[in-house]
Amino acid sequence: MKIGSEQTFKQGKSYALELPTCWPTTNDASELTLLAIESIFMQTRHQVFRIPEREHIVFLVSGGLDSIVGIEKVIRDWDVTVYPLFIRRHAKAEKYEEAAFDYFLKSYSERYPNNVARPAKVTSGIPPYQWKSHFSRDWVQRFGYPMRDFALVSLAVQYAVTLNSKLNTEIRTIFTGTTDGDVFPHSSLVALRVATLAACLDSSDWSWQITSPFVESVPEPMRKSDVILWANEQNIAVERTRTCVSDSEIADGTCLECRHRLAAFGEAGLTDPVEYNLGASNAC
Ligand SMILES: [Zn+2]
Repeated sequence: MKIGSEQTFKQGKSYALELPTCWPTTNDASELTLLAIESIFMQTRHQVFRIPEREHIVFLVSGGLDSIVGIEKVIRDWDVTVYPLFIRRHAKAEKYEEAAFDYFLKSYSERYPNNVARPAKVTSGIPPYQWKSHFSRDWVQRFGYPMRDFALVSLAVQYAVTLNSKLNTEIRTIFTGTTDGDVFPHSSLVALRVATLAACLDSSDWSWQITSPFVESVPEPMRKSDVILWANEQNIAVERTRTCVSDSEIADGTCLECRHRLAAFGEAGLTDPVEYNLGASNAC
């Protein structure tokens, strides 16, 4: 398949994907998917991402550093009204994640009373609890739980639709805390574009966007280290965020999420103020 040429689909209908000639040619399936979906958005709505300035948005918040910092960023940059959503999904670290969510949302609500709506929590096993032990450790370490982020953002779209119905809002933007370079395929830019396409097709409404303020950052997407530097400038209490996925109160420092966070602090040239129990085994 060659990018920029006419594509013939199995249904027998021909479509011309009019991609700019400067776009790269590639055999990488992820890159092809990204180019194709972004081309569809350009043809249907003339933009890939719309800045939701002063709009109402749903922010999917895990209690981790990125989503917590992301709330501050979208309020400061775009003066949005945030509807924060926390999903109780039976994670090992859930009570610590939820404590971080509660702490920061209380703080943001006090500092930005006109920009933060009442935080919402919903319970949904993602993946269902009875299946968790059947995923191989190798799979989970390589890919995370199958389709996890797609399931989470699907719930966020459902929440937005209920808000639109109940409060007469017109929410079409779902934000996550995804950063450039996140480790799992379902946390990538192309995965966000795929989720956006699915949301648009689901309602025949091409104004939906499921994305992250960090991947849409101009001129370059923000890596986790960039987010840490920005949070440091804003004096955000990142020691109150919860990244470790273990069931220990003290972060183990050894799970993939801890290692990614520690590496990002190192890249930023800063010391992570979170306490780590570096003698613990990997309990994730
Ligand atoms: Zn950890």
